[in-house]
Amino acid sequence: MDANTKTVMSQTLGCKLNFAETSAMTALLEEAGYRSVRSGKADVFIVNTCSVTETADQKDRQAIHKIVREHPESFIVVTGCYAQLKPAEVAAIPGVDLVLGADYKLELLSHLRDTRNEAAEIVTSSNNEIAGFLPACAKGDRTRYFLKVQDGCDSFCTYCTVPFARGRSRNPSIASLVEQASRAIEEGAKEIVLSGVNIGTFGKRTTDSSVTGKQTLLQLIEGLDEIPGQHRFRISSLEPDLLTDDIIRFVASSSHFMPHFHLPLQSGDDEMLDLMHRHYHSDLFADTVSRVKETMPDAFIGVDVIVGMRGETPERFESSMSFLKRINVSQLHVFTYSERPGTQALKIPYIVPASEKKRRSELLHLLSEEKRTTFYESQKGKQMKVLFEHGNKAGVISGFSENYIRVEAPWCKAWENTVQTVVAPSFNEDKSALTVSAK
Ligand code: SF4
Repeated sequence: MDANTKTVMSQTLGCKLNFAETSAMTALLEEAGYRSVRSGKADVFIVNTCSVTETADQKDRQAIHKIVREHPESFIVVTGCYAQLKPAEVAAIPGVDLVLGADYKLELLSHLRDTRNEAAEIVTSSNNEIAGFLPACAKGDRTRYFLKVQDGCDSFCTYCTVPFARGRSRNPSIASLVEQASRAIEEGAKEIVLSGVNIGTFGKRTTDSSVTGKQTLLQLIEGLDEIPGQHRFRISSLEPDLLTDDIIRFVASSSHFMPHFHLPLQSGDDEMLDLMHRHYHSDLFADTVSRVKETMPDAFIGVDVIVGMRGETPERFESSMSFLKRINVSQLHVFTYSERPGTQALKIPYIVPASEKKRRSELLHLLSEEKRTTFYESQKGKQMKVLFEHGNKAGVISGFSENYIRVEAPWCKAWENTVQTVVAPSFNEDKSALTVSAK
């Protein structure tokens, strides 16, 4: 079959970085003449997997089995974190043709075959050799794009497999990222989310040999900020010890960077932070939150928390809860701990029973609801610039304000993918958004 007539389909599991990378791999095949399809038959099927928890591995396996069943003619490529961490396990799934490790995503084309493989081919490098960078800027929907600015991590937190699956921290040049962002804006991007594994370490290693001297995250932000237009940028997540005063001041003064921070805390208890091998204690985190709030009182601060990790005794959980209650943040993103083979956390003897993990997770979700409602309450009736997204859900159009408040308004086609200045004086029914009553 001629390459021009070949088709490619994909399924992505896991994080936004994976979505961006699937889109980059599909684009590579499109450049080679493949046509991207969403249904029907496909010559090549890319499954981009996640391995953040044991449940993620299970979902990967279920998805692969289903795809093999539904696409018996397709050449099935499995890539992503699960493929990198457990290539033999993936290759043993009947029907898989190619297992592609983290460093080979860019070389996908050269490993495709015209006929199905008898047994899966495994193309991976060892975890500590991963060094490449797959540039990716994906269109999430018509409004929002995800620009991959960094990959990998050097931190080795004791519960995490990401440094094994994605290698050490690295990034491309600022010039290449500004170029990618400019192209996305020309295509119509209204908001670009800077994505990565540990963005705060931007500049530690560059994969671009033309870069001389050290580049920093602040320089990246300054470079992106110079792109003319009405678009917005958000920073997806920043380690609390890497959010500097310079970055806070810059975001506060920028019309492009939104007053929205996502800080991974993981636990509010210092003994747990030590067991996790995090690089700070709760006082540093509290200080980071205060520094943001002093400069931008209306900034949205979302916080990642892991619940039920080994070592989290009832006392440590209580101490974490009481810290979380005290700090002025807008929302919690709660993740239930899951055991990952090969991690240092498995050496910690104290295990939290599953039912107790569930109970703690529910308490944290309740606290998160309270915090979000309090934050939204504080913003009710203020003038906000909302980027409305597309889609008419039950007569409603919705979008996000600069400080990440979800705002709903009566459906208005003309507002799709536009920024509107509105006042939202009340909550919607389930308190998940503020509402604009009339236009
Ligand atoms: S900072 Fe810690 S949790 Fe985050 S990716 Fe690196 S090792 Fe994993």
